[in-house]
Amino acid sequence: MPPKSGWIELIYGCVKSGKSIALISKINSLKDAIDKEKFRKESLIIKHPLDDRETESKISSFNKKGIDAIECETTQDIVKRVTKHTKFIFLGGIHLFDKDIVPFSKALIDRGVIIIATGLNLTSKGEPYNYMPQIMTITDVYDIEKGECFTPGCGEEAYRSIEVNDHFEPRCMKCYYKTEKKPSLVVVTGPMFSQKTIKLIEEENKKKNKLEFNPIKNYADEFMNKDISAIFKWSKDKRYSLEKIVSHDGSSIGAIPVGNTDQIIDYLQENKHVGFVGIDEIQFFKEPYKMVKGLLEQGYSVYATCLKKDFRGEGFGDVPKILTLATTIINKEAYCTICQKQPATETQRFVIKDGIKKPAKYGDPIVLVAGEDLYTSACRSCHWVPGKPENKYDNI
Ligand SMILES: [Zn+2]
Ligand SMILES: [Zn+2]
Repeated sequence: MPPKSGWIELIYGCVKSGKSIALISKINSLKDAIDKEKFRKESLIIKHPLDDRETESKISSFNKKGIDAIECETTQDIVKRVTKHTKFIFLGGIHLFDKDIVPFSKALIDRGVIIIATGLNLTSKGEPYNYMPQIMTITDVYDIEKGECFTPGCGEEAYRSIEVNDHFEPRCMKCYYKTEKKPSLVVVTGPMFSQKTIKLIEEENKKKNKLEFNPIKNYADEFMNKDISAIFKWSKDKRYSLEKIVSHDGSSIGAIPVGNTDQIIDYLQENKHVGFVGIDEIQFFKEPYKMVKGLLEQGYSVYATCLKKDFRGEGFGDVPKILTLATTIINKEAYCTICQKQPATETQRFVIKDGIKKPAKYGDPIVLVAGEDLYTSACRSCHWVPGKPENKYDNI
């Protein structure tokens, strides 16, 4: 359930995965739902000129008629088009915009605007595309489109793009990383108390008991019969137990406590039979992106839970870059404990001074392991961080 305030839905994936088709169908369903005049007044259809280069001023796809769009090259160009009536922004090629697209989008969703955008999450070199890590951090609805692998005779679901001569082609994980096993990355994210850890525990228990997976979950069969698993947790997180991952509801699984990513890599080198790697609260580790990328290159199935935002609402270390690598993102939401009205997307931290609970300041240390006494989940409107720098787009 996306927040009431407005939200960002991101339609993303590799080249030729049908992102524009998905965007066109979103535009058409809104067109059908509201009257013409209202649609004209409240919605903006925009594309970056470098997205779908063949069709000027149109969002189009090879098998469908295009939809007229305003070409905007910079965030400033979009700002000029926004009016007080704007409620919906459809945006083709969000990955091609400058860095202001991030604060601009944040300001708009706080105002109640719904942004539905298409974007390439990765370059053909497999690195995060421009400001996509930051955009994926503030995304509420993740809508991944899968292409079809162009390797002759393959045809598997594609999540990556490669450059061949003068054009780009989709590739599946196995063909892209040239691995024996099919690598995958599931990221479960959300604020604190959004039951992220339960997901990992369920996944592990299902593997252990060899229970039938729920066929609705598209990530399920990727993990069936996938060797032996190793579940890791950060050793300084001793909230419930050192050698267990325990969820807030009390369920648990055994885990290997490690202090850094090197220890995970060492363990895997000594235990070659492991194919499935679970990592709880990956944001606690220093620079986890490099490790996750390395695990995919070696063909592992990785399942990570994380806070994508810190208590300030900023991207948590290099977790945002990990989001761009994921083959599945499960975005969990808690309930706002402050207004008790809206879904919570933020983690609110408190400090207790002279017995009084106050919101933690922007300049406070980012990592502070604690439970319900110092943290709660909050919606965007209730989230309060004294000293947070102003967003220059808040007044547009
Ligand atoms: Zn393939
Ligand atoms: Zn609230």
